[in-house]
Amino acid sequence: MNTEIRVRGRVQGVGFRPAVWRLARELSLSGEVLNDGEGVLIRVAGDAETIRRLLARLRDEAPPLARIEHIESRRLAAPLAPGFRIVESHPGDARTEIAADAGICADCAAEILDPYQRRYRYPFTTCTNCGPRFSIATGIPYDRAATTMADFPLCPECAHEYADPGDRRFHAEATACHACGPHARLVRCDGRAATFETFSMLDDCDAVCTILQRGHIIAIKGIGGYQLACDATDPDAVARLRAGKHRETKPFALMARDFDIIRAYALIDPLEAEALTSLAAPIVLLRRAGKPVADGVAPGLNTLGFMLPSTPLHVLALRRMTRPLVLTSGNLTDEPQITDDSEALAQLGGIAEFALTHNRPIATRLDDSVARMMDGAVRTLRRGRGHAPTPISLPEGFATAPDVLACGADLKNTFCLVKDGKAVLSHHIGDLDDVATLDDYRASLARYAALFDHAPTAVAADRHPEYRSAKLARQSGRKLVEVQHHHAHVAACLAENRRPLDAPRVLGIVLDGLGWGDDGTVWGGEFLLADYRESTRLGCLKPVAMPGGDAAAREPWRNLYAHLTAEMGWAELTMNFAELDLYRDLADRPRATLDAMIKSGTNAPRASSCGRLFDAVAAALGLCRERQGHEGEAASRLEALVCEATLRDEDDTLAYPFSIPNLPGSGLPYIEPLAMWRALLGDLILDTPAPVIAARFHKGLARILVGMAQKLAGDGRFDTVALSGGCFQNKALLEQVASRLRAAGFAVLTHNLVPPNDGGISLGQAAVAAARLMEG
Ligand SMILES: [Zn+2]
Ligand SMILES: [Zn+2]
Repeated sequence: MNTEIRVRGRVQGVGFRPAVWRLARELSLSGEVLNDGEGVLIRVAGDAETIRRLLARLRDEAPPLARIEHIESRRLAAPLAPGFRIVESHPGDARTEIAADAGICADCAAEILDPYQRRYRYPFTTCTNCGPRFSIATGIPYDRAATTMADFPLCPECAHEYADPGDRRFHAEATACHACGPHARLVRCDGRAATFETFSMLDDCDAVCTILQRGHIIAIKGIGGYQLACDATDPDAVARLRAGKHRETKPFALMARDFDIIRAYALIDPLEAEALTSLAAPIVLLRRAGKPVADGVAPGLNTLGFMLPSTPLHVLALRRMTRPLVLTSGNLTDEPQITDDSEALAQLGGIAEFALTHNRPIATRLDDSVARMMDGAVRTLRRGRGHAPTPISLPEGFATAPDVLACGADLKNTFCLVKDGKAVLSHHIGDLDDVATLDDYRASLARYAALFDHAPTAVAADRHPEYRSAKLARQSGRKLVEVQHHHAHVAACLAENRRPLDAPRVLGIVLDGLGWGDDGTVWGGEFLLADYRESTRLGCLKPVAMPGGDAAAREPWRNLYAHLTAEMGWAELTMNFAELDLYRDLADRPRATLDAMIKSGTNAPRASSCGRLFDAVAAALGLCRERQGHEGEAASRLEALVCEATLRDEDDTLAYPFSIPNLPGSGLPYIEPLAMWRALLGDLILDTPAPVIAARFHKGLARILVGMAQKLAGDGRFDTVALSGGCFQNKALLEQVASRLRAAGFAVLTHNLVPPNDGGISLGQAAVAAARLMEG
């Protein structure tokens, strides 16, 4: 009996046809396999049992980069020739989904360390199961001619492997070897010759290790851009790297050769180990333990962001390195990572003495992805190399969604294309208030439109009047769908959890820094009753003035002052807490000016922001009181302080109290922190250890958030709560809130594939816009 099998998903350009070919031959099936516009088509002649085994093994033994979404089979009347063939596809037939870049596979890693292999120490070794994809793609369909490998014709030996269905390099578009591929080169940034005599090493990659051990900073051309590296245990090198990059306190990522080295500095849970060795090979935030790295690596934090070498070049460079190294993006402060060779030498030459460069161009700049294990799962906090541009299947009800472009938010920007019922979320672009990043954003929009052949009928954007992303959307001339910031957060969480389009509304608890609200005020701690189409604000955190506007986001003492004066007033503070150092600090500030600003609202907008509440509490404990070196620093230092024992203590009287009154006028219930402040300041008077205070705050906030959810649920208004917003990158907060919600009987939706922060917003904008457009 002849059967035709249709396989859909990411099955092109990932070694799927040869995998079918090998299985068919093992099972003695005759027939053919080919790529076409819908995926892979298999035609086989054989009995039902053998075909059933073929299908089962296809699922179990699919190549690592493949993702099967759907298999269906039907009877085929047409005859099949004996033997099993891979049928060449015709140009234009294939509609390839470009896969994300993948970390080096075990076979390639073994090959480059084996002196008897012809790719011994070859830093661009790759096969069908691993290596660069998206970062080198210049067009579609994905084949060598449409990559930055186009200028490296295959040598006879590589060409033979490429054409052999039995070889793991069959149609490996980026394959190469010493003879035919790109080469790495160690250069001095000042233009003088860097000779092997200087290092007496094996080769240019190997010399990197010696350079690092001698305390130098080196620029390394990675998959998605230039990186800067130095020995993470060398305080002087780390300090020079910080000064050179003009990066104050934002933590540096680390790379280590293997698990044993990471374990000397941090704890690794089995799930975290799995994430570290996954194809995406992200940076994973691990809890510090054991030996210290230099203080300048991650000041004030109890986590270290580690990754393992994910390219042959990094494997070779780190081969002899027995200490972790800092590996951070090659750029100045918040600018995009540099991808161009001459620009790298010009700009990074002031920081690095050496550069390990190569002649394979980078087509798409990609930052490293970042993940963290929270509430029992490893969650993506930044989506870059290894994840982008893997599409996210939209839930039931979105199959007929129109093509939409969602422009994202201005901080941690990503954008999102909707096509064929799937969402392609872009890689992390960055903060659009940086001019170079904004240029990169525009260029990336054009690249994705070309690579995905995307012509949207509508554009979705944030309501914020000043967002650059929203301005671009308004200028696009296409139908515009404005989506409120926090509604987009909730919708992103619903979409990635595959909540159907017509499912009942949920309560979204969205905690973040600042977003433009429906009422024209600034929101950031919101309780929204929402589905994809609509959202209604049911409650919020207390709106408190931000004296100084933008300055309040940088200088936490401003939020501390605003909270304390709004909630207890200066007189009570003077009467009860004058002995505290925070009181003396605030007394020295220009209080009359601040009070006038707060009273009149001039340059002091009110915001119901959870981020600013965290800033204020951190400032009360003396963390980043004067200013934060990067966004979210005060909150992450506060979280790092948390005493685990207090946090996990069953005794809920340890949780700081909050209350839920109603806002005058609107009658909207809100979370009032006055009682929390009295208890916290009282603890400061008693010299309660800061870690206990930090834990009591997290517990108290989580308890009242859940209390608000219960109050709003009434008799069954919703049974599901979606958690979103940048504050849920906080492990202590997320775990406390999620476990308390579950204990209260709610189903809880959290982020996993996309970041809870503004990096996930574009997915939500896209889902909201698609839902509204389908409604008509
Ligand atoms: Zn490989
Ligand atoms: Zn070759």
